[in-house]
Amino acid sequence: MSADGTASARAVSLADQIRAASEHAERTLQALARDIPGVELQRKGFDFLDGIAVQAVEAVRTRRAVLCPHIDRRRPSVLHVFAHDPESVRCVPCSEVQGLAVRGTVEDRTCDGCGGVDPDGVYPGVFSTGPLLVSFGLCDDCRQSEWQQRSA
Ligand SMILES: [Zn+2]
Ligand SMILES: [Zn+2]
Repeated sequence: MSADGTASARAVSLADQIRAASEHAERTLQALARDIPGVELQRKGFDFLDGIAVQAVEAVRTRRAVLCPHIDRRRPSVLHVFAHDPESVRCVPCSEVQGLAVRGTVEDRTCDGCGGVDPDGVYPGVFSTGPLLVSFGLCDDCRQSEWQQRSA
């Protein structure tokens, strides 16, 4: 096989893997929707979510990100970050463990939009873009202003 043929075969298989990882992200999103009561699923980013997604991808690309041991840079897979810490990138099982670890802590009641702490808790949400999932929480005010921004 020519060098060209090999390269394009590699590109095709990479595209397939990215597609598979994106589908896996979508299935994970659906599973989260079942597991977390009241969670909002976002497929269109608010400005701040797009910013977090860009930070996470940049951190992975520049190797600044802290990856859990199950993520292989050479094989696209679902990547999960929490909005307050976009440079810690985890596989789905590891992010579930981390999600449980923060449950009930002050972090769990901190709004990712304004950084304020809402004693009643924040509205949980998950945003997906390709194979990347971003978990976030918003206080009442931020949630409303983001919705207004979106419908404007
Ligand atoms: Zn992991
Ligand atoms: Zn807020």
